[in-house]
Amino acid sequence: MDFKELREYMVRTQLIPRGISDERVLDAMRKVPRHLFVPEHIQPRAYDDMALSIGEGQTISQPYMVAIMTELLELKGDEKILEIGTGSGYQTAILAELAKNVYSIERIEQLAERAKNILSSLSYQNVFIKTGDGTLGWEEESPFDRILITAGTPQIPQPLIEQLSDDNGIIVAPVGDRFSQVLLKVIKAKGKLEKETHTPCVFVPLIGKHGWQKDEDYYV
Ligand code: SAM
Repeated sequence: MDFKELREYMVRTQLIPRGISDERVLDAMRKVPRHLFVPEHIQPRAYDDMALSIGEGQTISQPYMVAIMTELLELKGDEKILEIGTGSGYQTAILAELAKNVYSIERIEQLAERAKNILSSLSYQNVFIKTGDGTLGWEEESPFDRILITAGTPQIPQPLIEQLSDDNGIIVAPVGDRFSQVLLKVIKAKGKLEKETHTPCVFVPLIGKHGWQKDEDYYV
């Protein structure tokens, strides 16, 4: 299969027509080999217009969702980013292409280990991954210029707001109930928070101290 061609097709049919216009984001989506981040038997579907299962009950997000979340972060290249929910590591790679450093936290150890291996085999040296509850953030490394939450949450965890830079820091997160969320963009400047809502979406739950409390609770 010509995966490079599939990536170009994905950009032309799924991203540009839906309004993704940041050329740096489009180039990163053209470059990162998404098929290497999914289980081998579904590699031929890696560039389809959908989220796919990556095992452990988790998913790699739909390409458009990865692109819009990345575009909303307004990356110029010198940012320090915190990502919550490493999953397959695909979104991490996209961020690593576009920013200075990416710190990523994954709750499920097997996924974190798998993502570390793929990212190091692709020679990403600006990515740091740890296993743990991302709703607590990564205090020793804060403040962050950007924070991306890639799992659905009832609210933006307070520690993450505290660990965001006060100098036009941006958080992007799917916020809502278990079955539907909207992408929320929060901009922090001089102690004030400005909020914008963007596209509706459905993500697996963010489970942790400042997210959903345990697997069952998100059915409320
Ligand atoms: N961005 C990922 C990718 O490109 O493959 C997809 C992320 S997946 C939709 C959401 C991830 O968030 C899952 O891997 C899940 O285990 C993780 N997660 C859920 N709660 C978490 C928490 N409190 N801290 C860190 N990771 C968490």
